[in-house]
Amino acid sequence: MNVSDYPFTQEAAEQVRKAGYSLESLLGKTSFKAVRGRAQERVAGAISGTIAECASRNDAEKLFELLSYPLARLMVSCLNDPILLRRYALAEAKLASRRMQNIGERLMVIADDLGLHPQGPGPYKIHFSEYVRAAHGMHSPKWKLTNRDLSQGYLTVTEEELKRIMEEAIGERVLKGLPIPVDERICEPLQEYLEPLKEQLDAMRTRDRVDLGKAEMGAFPPCIKKMLSDVAKGVNLAHSARFALVSFLLQINMTVDEVVSLFNTSPDFDQEKTRYQVDHISGASGTRYRPPACATMATYGNCPGEDEMCKRVRHPLSYYERRLRTFRPLPSQKGPGAGT
Ligand code: SF4
Repeated sequence: MNVSDYPFTQEAAEQVRKAGYSLESLLGKTSFKAVRGRAQERVAGAISGTIAECASRNDAEKLFELLSYPLARLMVSCLNDPILLRRYALAEAKLASRRMQNIGERLMVIADDLGLHPQGPGPYKIHFSEYVRAAHGMHSPKWKLTNRDLSQGYLTVTEEELKRIMEEAIGERVLKGLPIPVDERICEPLQEYLEPLKEQLDAMRTRDRVDLGKAEMGAFPPCIKKMLSDVAKGVNLAHSARFALVSFLLQINMTVDEVVSLFNTSPDFDQEKTRYQVDHISGASGTRYRPPACATMATYGNCPGEDEMCKRVRHPLSYYERRLRTFRPLPSQKGPGAGT
């Protein structure tokens, strides 16, 4: 296995240790400029959505590829932006996933490194505890344990599914320990690489800024605010939360386009799929869905806790309508004394 293709593995970490280069030399020596350049490319790729593959590699280039991973981790730590950290972990996982497509039997070596022990050849049997640990962030119904055949503690996955589960586990592995505690001694020498990344990050934030149209965000109930904040951080919402958020926003007259663009904060954003789901909830197929009531929200763990207004309502929409009155008096409320 070419470990430089899988720099998040324990074997790769061991090789970096054995190579014995000091942090100071990686940060400052001219001979490692290409390593710093590739580390910057990794982070830039994470911001734009895809880390580019490296061209054909000799031994020196393989070593540079390997060393660029810990340096990229330092760079994202210096930038210390929660959305970037998630995007970075996801982009590294996607890069590894592309590299795993034709890896053959060596797939098992990486699975083992990730703490997964599927029994093959495919379709594979995987212990439910390993499955749950790796797939807990995958919210589509297909991955729910209740929708899988479970026999004597094992469930069956295809090779494609195993690779998808491994991709998830790789994302977790990359995210673990980030941000690394860094200080000026580390970030200062990297400034020439960090500055362009900061600009790229600012441009991304501007592009992804949520436009809530005419909606009054200050009047949103705590549940919807929390979901919006999670979406902005790139957190994958559970299906029930995604449904509640989308149906709520559509109900307060946001357009399908506005709602779809809201989810454009993740590198794995699938515009077509999201549009299909939002269209469906908006009533394109005949039924316009209403957001769930507070009791249902609580049942699914989507009610983050009540504030004073929550105690007086049974539905997030009622919360919004009541709060809205304090922001924009209804026409019937205008008149002598209104707004005073
Ligand atoms: S009580 Fe209702 S409106 Fe308030 S946070 Fe919970 S679900 Fe939202």
